[in-house]
Amino acid sequence: MTSDLTENAARAHFETLYEYRPTGVWSAPGRVNLIGEHTDYNEGFVLPFAINRRTFAAVSLRQDNICRVASSFEPTVHQIELDAISRDAVGDWAAYPFGVAWALQQATAGNFTGFDIFIDSDVPVGAGLSSSAAIECAVAVALNELWSLGLDRRALARVGQHAENAIVGAPTGIMDQSASLLGETDHGVFLDCRDLAAQVVELGFAKEGLELLIIDTKVAHRHADGGYASRRAACELGAAALGVGSLRELTAQDLPRAAELLDATTFARVRHVVTENQRVLDTVETLRTLGPRFIGELMHASHVSMRDDFEISVDELDTAVETALKHGAIGARMTGGGFGGAAIALTPVAKISEVTLAVLAEFEALHYTKPDIFVVSAAPGATREE
Ligand code: ADP
Ligand code: MG
Repeated sequence: MTSDLTENAARAHFETLYEYRPTGVWSAPGRVNLIGEHTDYNEGFVLPFAINRRTFAAVSLRQDNICRVASSFEPTVHQIELDAISRDAVGDWAAYPFGVAWALQQATAGNFTGFDIFIDSDVPVGAGLSSSAAIECAVAVALNELWSLGLDRRALARVGQHAENAIVGAPTGIMDQSASLLGETDHGVFLDCRDLAAQVVELGFAKEGLELLIIDTKVAHRHADGGYASRRAACELGAAALGVGSLRELTAQDLPRAAELLDATTFARVRHVVTENQRVLDTVETLRTLGPRFIGELMHASHVSMRDDFEISVDELDTAVETALKHGAIGARMTGGGFGGAAIALTPVAKISEVTLAVLAEFEALHYTKPDIFVVSAAPGATREE
Protein backbone atom coordinates (compact mmCIF):
# COMPACT_ATOMS: atom_id res chain seq x y z
CA MET A 1 0.00 0.00 0.00
CA THR A 2 2.76 2.37 0.95
CA SER A 3 4.77 3.20 -2.14
CA ASP A 4 8.39 2.06 -1.61
CA LEU A 5 9.26 3.85 -4.79
CA THR A 6 8.33 7.18 -3.35
CA GLU A 7 10.00 6.52 -0.01
CA ASN A 8 13.22 5.58 -1.78
CA ALA A 9 12.86 8.55 -4.07
CA ALA A 10 12.73 10.96 -1.12
CA ARG A 11 15.89 9.42 0.36
CA ALA A 12 17.72 9.39 -2.98
CA HIS A 13 16.70 12.96 -3.84
CA PHE A 14 17.84 14.12 -0.40
CA GLU A 15 21.26 12.52 -0.86
CA THR A 16 21.71 13.94 -4.35
CA LEU A 17 20.73 17.46 -3.33
CA TYR A 18 22.32 17.81 0.12
CA GLU A 19 25.20 15.35 -0.44
CA TYR A 20 24.74 13.36 2.76
CA ARG A 21 22.35 10.70 4.05
CA PRO A 22 19.11 11.75 5.78
CA THR A 23 18.55 10.58 9.36
CA GLY A 24 15.24 9.05 8.37
CA VAL A 25 12.14 9.13 6.18
CA TRP A 26 8.69 9.90 7.61
CA SER A 27 5.39 9.80 5.71
CA ALA A 28 1.80 10.97 6.05
CA PRO A 29 -1.27 10.24 3.91
CA GLY A 30 -3.80 12.44 2.17
CA ARG A 31 -7.45 11.98 3.15
CA VAL A 32 -10.94 11.77 1.73
CA ASN A 33 -14.11 12.73 3.57
CA LEU A 34 -16.62 9.87 3.51
CA ILE A 35 -19.44 12.00 4.93
CA GLY A 36 -19.95 15.23 6.91
CA GLU A 37 -19.58 18.26 4.66
CA HIS A 38 -19.60 21.89 5.87
CA THR A 39 -20.20 20.54 9.36
CA ASP A 40 -16.68 21.18 10.69
CA TYR A 41 -16.99 24.94 11.17
CA ASN A 42 -20.45 24.40 12.69
CA GLU A 43 -18.82 22.33 15.47
CA GLY A 44 -20.40 19.18 14.05
CA PHE A 45 -19.30 15.72 12.96
CA VAL A 46 -17.12 14.45 10.10
CA LEU A 47 -15.99 10.99 9.00
CA PRO A 48 -12.84 11.19 6.84
CA PHE A 49 -10.25 8.49 6.28
CA ALA A 50 -6.55 8.49 5.46
CA ILE A 51 -5.83 7.22 1.94
CA ASN A 52 -3.12 5.08 0.34
CA ARG A 53 -1.47 8.10 -1.29
CA ARG A 54 1.36 9.51 0.82
CA THR A 55 3.82 12.33 1.20
CA PHE A 56 7.34 11.29 2.21
CA ALA A 57 9.78 13.58 4.00
CA ALA A 58 13.48 12.67 4.19
CA VAL A 59 14.84 14.71 7.11
CA SER A 60 18.02 15.48 9.05
CA LEU A 61 18.69 18.03 11.77
CA ARG A 62 21.60 20.43 11.31
CA GLN A 63 24.06 21.84 13.85
CA ASP A 64 23.15 25.45 12.96
CA ASN A 65 19.87 27.36 12.60
CA ILE A 66 19.52 27.05 8.83
CA CYS A 67 16.33 25.38 7.55
CA ARG A 68 16.22 24.10 3.97
CA VAL A 69 13.29 22.43 2.18
CA ALA A 70 13.06 21.02 -1.32
CA SER A 71 10.40 19.02 -3.16
CA SER A 72 10.24 16.93 -6.31
CA PHE A 73 7.36 19.26 -7.30
CA GLU A 74 9.73 22.07 -8.27
CA PRO A 75 13.50 22.66 -8.35
CA THR A 76 13.92 25.59 -5.93
CA VAL A 77 15.55 24.96 -2.55
CA HIS A 78 13.88 27.23 0.01
CA GLN A 79 16.02 28.40 2.90
CA ILE A 80 15.42 30.45 6.06
CA GLU A 81 16.83 30.78 9.58
CA LEU A 82 14.75 29.02 12.18
CA ASP A 83 13.82 32.11 14.21
CA ALA A 84 13.03 34.16 11.08
CA ILE A 85 9.99 32.08 10.06
CA SER A 86 6.87 34.24 9.81
CA ARG A 87 3.83 34.70 7.58
CA ASP A 88 5.60 37.40 5.57
CA ALA A 89 9.03 35.75 5.39
CA VAL A 90 7.95 32.47 3.81
CA GLY A 91 5.86 31.92 0.72
CA ASP A 92 4.91 29.34 -1.82
CA TRP A 93 4.69 25.69 -0.79
CA ALA A 94 7.61 26.11 1.66
CA ALA A 95 5.11 27.82 3.99
CA TYR A 96 3.76 24.35 4.88
CA PRO A 97 6.97 22.73 6.20
CA PHE A 98 8.38 25.99 7.62
CA GLY A 99 4.98 26.73 9.16
CA VAL A 100 5.03 23.38 10.94
CA ALA A 101 8.52 24.07 12.31
CA TRP A 102 7.26 27.43 13.58
CA ALA A 103 4.07 25.96 15.10
CA LEU A 104 6.00 23.20 16.88
CA GLN A 105 8.14 25.88 18.57
CA GLN A 106 4.97 27.73 19.61
CA ALA A 107 3.49 24.55 21.05
CA THR A 108 6.30 23.41 23.30
CA ALA A 109 9.81 23.97 24.61
CA GLY A 110 12.75 22.10 23.10
CA ASN A 111 16.29 22.27 21.82
CA PHE A 112 15.48 23.55 18.34
CA THR A 113 18.05 23.49 15.56
CA GLY A 114 17.84 23.87 11.79
CA PHE A 115 17.08 21.03 9.37
CA ASP A 116 17.25 19.79 5.79
CA ILE A 117 14.11 18.24 4.27
CA PHE A 118 13.30 16.67 0.92
CA ILE A 119 9.62 16.04 0.09
CA ASP A 120 8.30 13.46 -2.37
CA SER A 121 4.61 12.69 -2.79
CA ASP A 122 2.01 10.75 -4.71
CA VAL A 123 -0.96 12.65 -3.22
CA PRO A 124 -2.69 14.50 -6.06
CA VAL A 125 -2.57 18.25 -5.43
CA GLY A 126 -5.82 20.18 -5.53
CA ALA A 127 -8.10 17.14 -5.99
CA GLY A 128 -9.58 17.65 -2.54
CA LEU A 129 -7.41 14.89 -1.06
CA SER A 130 -5.50 17.23 1.24
CA SER A 131 -1.98 17.15 -0.07
CA SER A 132 -1.46 20.10 2.28
CA ALA A 133 -2.21 18.10 5.43
CA ALA A 134 -0.02 15.27 4.13
CA ILE A 135 3.00 17.55 3.85
CA GLU A 136 2.28 19.18 7.24
CA CYS A 137 1.84 15.89 9.06
CA ALA A 138 4.90 14.19 7.51
CA VAL A 139 7.05 17.11 8.63
CA ALA A 140 5.32 17.32 12.03
CA VAL A 141 5.98 13.68 12.98
CA ALA A 142 9.58 13.95 11.72
CA LEU A 143 10.48 17.10 13.67
CA ASN A 144 8.51 15.96 16.74
CA GLU A 145 10.77 12.92 16.88
CA LEU A 146 14.07 14.56 15.89
CA TRP A 147 13.55 17.51 18.27
CA SER A 148 12.39 15.01 20.99
CA LEU A 149 9.22 17.01 21.71
CA GLY A 150 6.98 14.11 22.69
CA LEU A 151 3.77 15.69 21.38
CA ASP A 152 0.89 13.24 20.88
CA ARG A 153 -1.07 12.91 17.64
CA ARG A 154 -3.87 15.25 18.68
CA ALA A 155 -1.35 17.94 19.58
CA LEU A 156 0.38 17.40 16.23
CA ALA A 157 -2.96 17.83 14.43
CA ARG A 158 -3.34 21.22 16.13
CA VAL A 159 0.23 22.09 15.12
CA GLY A 160 -0.59 21.39 11.46
CA GLN A 161 -3.74 23.49 11.65
CA HIS A 162 -1.87 26.32 13.41
CA ALA A 163 0.79 26.27 10.67
CA GLU A 164 -1.84 26.40 7.93
CA ASN A 165 -3.83 29.17 9.62
CA ALA A 166 -0.98 31.40 10.81
CA ILE A 167 1.87 30.88 8.33
CA VAL A 168 0.18 29.65 5.12
CA GLY A 169 -2.79 31.91 5.82
CA ALA A 170 -5.63 29.48 5.06
CA PRO A 171 -8.49 29.48 7.60
CA THR A 172 -8.98 25.71 7.59
CA GLY A 173 -10.29 23.37 10.29
CA ILE A 174 -8.61 20.38 11.89
CA MET A 175 -10.28 17.54 9.98
CA ASP A 176 -7.51 16.96 7.43
CA GLN A 177 -4.66 16.74 9.92
CA SER A 178 -6.69 14.51 12.24
CA ALA A 179 -7.37 12.05 9.44
CA SER A 180 -3.74 12.09 8.27
CA LEU A 181 -2.41 11.45 11.79
CA LEU A 182 -5.06 9.14 13.27
CA GLY A 183 -6.03 7.01 10.25
CA GLU A 184 -5.77 3.21 10.30
CA THR A 185 -6.07 0.54 7.61
CA ASP A 186 -9.73 0.12 6.60
CA HIS A 187 -10.88 2.54 9.34
CA GLY A 188 -12.48 5.97 9.27
CA VAL A 189 -11.72 8.77 11.74
CA PHE A 190 -14.97 9.90 13.38
CA LEU A 191 -14.28 13.40 14.59
CA ASP A 192 -16.37 15.64 16.82
CA CYS A 193 -15.35 19.13 15.75
CA ARG A 194 -16.66 20.68 18.99
CA ASP A 195 -14.20 19.03 21.39
CA LEU A 196 -11.97 17.33 18.78
CA ALA A 197 -12.70 13.92 20.28
CA ALA A 198 -11.75 11.31 17.66
CA GLN A 199 -12.60 7.62 17.39
CA VAL A 200 -11.56 5.20 14.69
CA VAL A 201 -14.47 3.30 13.16
CA GLU A 202 -14.05 0.14 11.10
CA LEU A 203 -15.17 0.69 7.53
CA GLY A 204 -15.13 -2.96 6.49
CA PHE A 205 -14.80 -2.07 2.80
CA ALA A 206 -12.13 -4.70 2.11
CA LYS A 207 -14.08 -7.45 3.87
CA GLU A 208 -17.24 -6.64 1.92
CA GLY A 209 -15.45 -6.43 -1.44
CA LEU A 210 -16.03 -2.69 -1.78
CA GLU A 211 -13.77 0.06 -2.99
CA LEU A 212 -14.04 3.81 -2.96
CA LEU A 213 -13.72 5.47 -6.36
CA ILE A 214 -12.56 9.05 -6.56
CA ILE A 215 -13.97 10.89 -9.57
CA ASP A 216 -11.96 14.09 -9.87
CA THR A 217 -14.02 16.29 -12.19
CA LYS A 218 -11.06 18.65 -12.73
CA VAL A 219 -13.52 21.49 -12.31
CA ALA A 220 -11.50 24.10 -10.42
CA HIS A 221 -13.46 25.24 -7.39
CA ARG A 222 -15.42 27.92 -9.26
CA HIS A 223 -16.46 30.88 -7.06
CA ALA A 224 -15.17 28.81 -4.18
CA ASP A 225 -14.03 31.72 -2.02
CA GLY A 226 -17.21 33.75 -2.22
CA GLY A 227 -19.40 30.65 -2.06
CA TYR A 228 -17.61 29.23 0.97
CA ALA A 229 -17.70 32.54 2.83
CA SER A 230 -21.38 33.09 2.11
CA ARG A 231 -22.27 29.57 3.30
CA ARG A 232 -20.35 30.17 6.53
CA ALA A 233 -22.11 33.50 6.99
CA ALA A 234 -25.54 31.89 6.46
CA CYS A 235 -24.73 29.29 9.12
CA GLU A 236 -23.69 31.98 11.59
CA LEU A 237 -26.81 34.01 10.82
CA GLY A 238 -29.01 30.95 11.32
CA ALA A 239 -27.37 30.03 14.61
CA ALA A 240 -27.70 33.59 15.94
CA ALA A 241 -31.36 33.85 14.91
CA LEU A 242 -32.11 30.58 16.67
CA GLY A 243 -30.21 31.57 19.79
CA VAL A 244 -27.50 28.89 19.71
CA GLY A 245 -23.73 29.22 19.67
CA SER A 246 -23.40 26.88 16.70
CA LEU A 247 -25.70 24.80 14.47
CA ARG A 248 -24.31 21.72 16.20
CA GLU A 249 -26.71 22.42 19.05
CA LEU A 250 -29.76 21.88 16.82
CA THR A 251 -31.48 18.64 15.82
CA ALA A 252 -34.22 17.77 13.33
CA GLN A 253 -36.77 18.65 16.04
CA ASP A 254 -35.69 22.29 15.83
CA LEU A 255 -36.30 22.53 12.10
CA PRO A 256 -40.01 23.52 12.20
CA ARG A 257 -39.12 26.46 14.47
CA ALA A 258 -36.19 27.32 12.18
CA ALA A 259 -38.55 27.33 9.17
CA GLU A 260 -40.75 29.90 10.92
CA LEU A 261 -37.91 32.20 11.99
CA LEU A 262 -35.56 32.13 9.01
CA ASP A 263 -35.80 33.26 5.41
CA ALA A 264 -36.04 30.38 2.93
CA THR A 265 -32.38 30.39 1.87
CA THR A 266 -30.94 30.56 5.38
CA PHE A 267 -33.34 27.83 6.45
CA ALA A 268 -32.13 25.57 3.64
CA ARG A 269 -28.49 26.12 4.68
CA VAL A 270 -29.35 25.33 8.30
CA ARG A 271 -31.29 22.23 7.29
CA HIS A 272 -28.27 20.90 5.39
CA VAL A 273 -25.99 21.22 8.41
CA VAL A 274 -28.51 19.78 10.88
CA THR A 275 -29.39 16.79 8.69
CA GLU A 276 -25.76 16.23 7.64
CA ASN A 277 -24.67 15.96 11.27
CA GLN A 278 -27.35 13.31 11.80
CA ARG A 279 -26.21 11.48 8.65
CA VAL A 280 -22.65 11.26 10.01
CA LEU A 281 -23.98 9.79 13.27
CA ASP A 282 -26.21 7.41 11.32
CA THR A 283 -23.29 6.36 9.07
CA VAL A 284 -21.11 5.54 12.09
CA GLU A 285 -23.96 3.56 13.66
CA THR A 286 -24.71 1.74 10.40
CA LEU A 287 -21.05 0.80 9.90
CA ARG A 288 -20.96 -0.60 13.43
CA THR A 289 -24.17 -2.59 13.11
CA LEU A 290 -25.09 -3.47 9.52
CA GLY A 291 -21.85 -2.76 7.66
CA PRO A 292 -20.76 -0.62 4.72
CA ARG A 293 -23.24 -2.03 2.20
CA PHE A 294 -25.96 -0.12 4.05
CA ILE A 295 -24.50 3.39 4.00
CA GLY A 296 -25.32 4.10 0.34
CA GLU A 297 -28.60 5.92 0.97
CA LEU A 298 -26.96 8.14 3.56
CA MET A 299 -24.24 9.06 1.09
CA HIS A 300 -26.76 9.92 -1.59
CA ALA A 301 -28.94 11.89 0.83
CA SER A 302 -25.82 13.87 1.71
CA HIS A 303 -25.29 14.67 -1.96
CA VAL A 304 -28.91 15.72 -2.49
CA SER A 305 -28.72 17.97 0.57
CA MET A 306 -25.54 19.65 -0.71
CA ARG A 307 -27.06 20.02 -4.16
CA ASP A 308 -30.49 21.34 -3.16
CA ASP A 309 -30.19 22.86 0.32
CA PHE A 310 -26.59 24.04 0.44
CA GLU A 311 -26.38 24.65 -3.34
CA ILE A 312 -22.67 23.87 -3.68
CA SER A 313 -22.75 21.18 -6.36
CA VAL A 314 -22.08 21.64 -10.09
CA ASP A 315 -23.41 19.71 -13.12
CA GLU A 316 -20.22 17.65 -13.42
CA LEU A 317 -20.50 16.44 -9.81
CA ASP A 318 -24.21 15.62 -10.20
CA THR A 319 -23.46 13.71 -13.39
CA ALA A 320 -20.64 11.75 -11.73
CA VAL A 321 -22.87 10.79 -8.79
CA GLU A 322 -25.97 9.80 -10.77
CA THR A 323 -23.99 7.89 -13.42
CA ALA A 324 -22.04 5.96 -10.78
CA LEU A 325 -25.25 5.01 -8.99
CA LYS A 326 -26.93 3.93 -12.22
CA HIS A 327 -24.03 1.59 -13.03
CA GLY A 328 -23.63 -0.22 -9.74
CA ALA A 329 -22.20 2.09 -7.07
CA ILE A 330 -23.78 1.51 -3.66
CA GLY A 331 -23.53 5.16 -2.68
CA ALA A 332 -22.07 8.32 -4.18
CA ARG A 333 -21.73 11.96 -3.29
CA MET A 334 -19.68 15.03 -3.99
CA THR A 335 -16.95 15.49 -1.42
CA GLY A 336 -15.08 18.57 -0.24
CA GLY A 337 -16.05 22.20 -0.12
CA GLY A 338 -18.04 22.18 -3.37
CA PHE A 339 -18.28 24.19 -6.62
CA GLY A 340 -16.02 21.61 -8.30
CA GLY A 341 -13.49 19.06 -7.11
CA ALA A 342 -14.23 15.38 -6.68
CA ALA A 343 -17.11 12.97 -6.15
CA ILE A 344 -16.76 9.62 -4.39
CA ALA A 345 -18.53 6.38 -5.26
CA LEU A 346 -18.59 3.35 -2.96
CA THR A 347 -18.52 0.51 -5.45
CA PRO A 348 -18.35 -3.31 -5.41
CA VAL A 349 -15.04 -4.49 -6.86
CA ALA A 350 -16.87 -6.28 -9.67
CA LYS A 351 -18.51 -3.01 -10.77
CA ILE A 352 -15.44 -0.74 -10.70
CA SER A 353 -14.71 -0.93 -14.41
CA GLU A 354 -18.36 -0.57 -15.45
CA VAL A 355 -18.78 2.55 -13.29
CA THR A 356 -15.48 4.00 -14.49
CA LEU A 357 -16.28 3.48 -18.17
CA ALA A 358 -19.83 4.78 -17.78
CA VAL A 359 -18.68 8.01 -16.10
CA LEU A 360 -15.99 8.55 -18.74
CA ALA A 361 -18.53 8.00 -21.53
CA GLU A 362 -21.14 10.29 -19.98
CA PHE A 363 -18.60 13.09 -19.46
CA GLU A 364 -17.48 12.75 -23.04
CA ALA A 365 -21.07 12.81 -24.34
CA LEU A 366 -21.71 16.01 -22.38
CA HIS A 367 -18.41 17.59 -23.56
CA TYR A 368 -17.12 17.90 -19.99
CA THR A 369 -13.39 17.82 -19.26
CA LYS A 370 -12.17 14.22 -18.96
CA PRO A 371 -12.29 13.28 -15.25
CA ASP A 372 -9.51 11.50 -13.40
CA ILE A 373 -10.92 8.30 -11.85
CA PHE A 374 -9.03 6.11 -9.37
CA VAL A 375 -9.56 3.89 -6.34
CA VAL A 376 -8.40 4.74 -2.82
CA SER A 377 -8.41 2.61 0.30
CA ALA A 378 -8.18 3.51 3.98
CA ALA A 379 -4.53 3.47 5.00
CA PRO A 380 -2.49 4.03 8.18
CA GLY A 381 -1.75 7.53 9.42
CA ALA A 382 1.60 9.31 9.60
CA THR A 383 4.56 7.11 10.50
CA ARG A 384 8.32 6.75 10.41
CA GLU A 385 9.30 4.64 7.40
CA GLU A 386 12.88 3.79 8.37
P1 ADP B 1 -5.22 20.14 -1.19
O1 ADP B 1 -4.77 20.10 0.23
O2 ADP B 1 -6.70 19.89 -1.34
O3 ADP B 1 -4.43 19.24 -2.10
P2 ADP B 1 -4.36 22.84 -0.88
O4 ADP B 1 -4.48 24.06 -1.74
O5 ADP B 1 -4.86 22.90 0.50
O6 ADP B 1 -5.00 21.62 -1.71
O7 ADP B 1 -2.83 22.44 -0.78
C1 ADP B 1 -2.06 22.27 -1.94
C2 ADP B 1 -0.72 22.97 -1.76
O8 ADP B 1 0.11 22.20 -0.85
C3 ADP B 1 0.07 23.01 -3.03
O9 ADP B 1 -0.29 24.14 -3.82
C4 ADP B 1 1.49 23.13 -2.50
O10 ADP B 1 1.76 24.45 -2.11
C5 ADP B 1 1.45 22.29 -1.23
N1 ADP B 1 1.95 20.91 -1.47
C6 ADP B 1 1.27 19.77 -1.33
N2 ADP B 1 2.05 18.70 -1.59
C7 ADP B 1 3.26 19.18 -1.91
C8 ADP B 1 4.53 18.60 -2.31
N3 ADP B 1 4.67 17.28 -2.42
N4 ADP B 1 5.56 19.42 -2.57
C9 ADP B 1 5.41 20.76 -2.46
N5 ADP B 1 4.27 21.35 -2.10
C10 ADP B 1 3.21 20.60 -1.84
MG1 MG C 1 -5.54 21.47 1.79
